[in-house]
Amino acid sequence: MLGSLARWLRFFGFDTEFCGPELDDREVRYRAGTEGRWLLTRDRELASKGPRTMLVRSEDLNDQLVEVFARLSLRPAANLAASRCGECNGVLETADTDTVREQVPPYVRMTAERFRRCTRCGRVYWPGTHTLKIINTMSAVVARLDP
Ligand SMILES: [Zn+2]
Repeated sequence: MLGSLARWLRFFGFDTEFCGPELDDREVRYRAGTEGRWLLTRDRELASKGPRTMLVRSEDLNDQLVEVFARLSLRPAANLAASRCGECNGVLETADTDTVREQVPPYVRMTAERFRRCTRCGRVYWPGTHTLKIINTMSAVVARLDP
């Protein structure tokens, strides 16, 4: 239920794994514990059981981000400098244009100046109009946090 939240926490640069419905509560809790993670959930029962667990109350994505940052005392920067792969949480590394040739549209290949590639799934990222939209949303969220 928190897939969008997970993706956006990754954009902000937070190491965020996502557990789908295939894992039961015990497995989710075990995994969070062994990996030293906070467990974020919308499930009241799961949230009531253990340490380092947070019940996410908001339904709206931006509200959820504000809620999580406030509760965990996080003060993220509104940029993509530290972002991780939104799809898989992999670390991004700089990639040369030559090495991403097959993975990006011709127009992007000619115009984008910087590429980053996910070290886990191989997805390629580049600055574009979508990045501006993401950064605008990030700025709006960060602006709502207490100083
Ligand atoms: Zn990835």
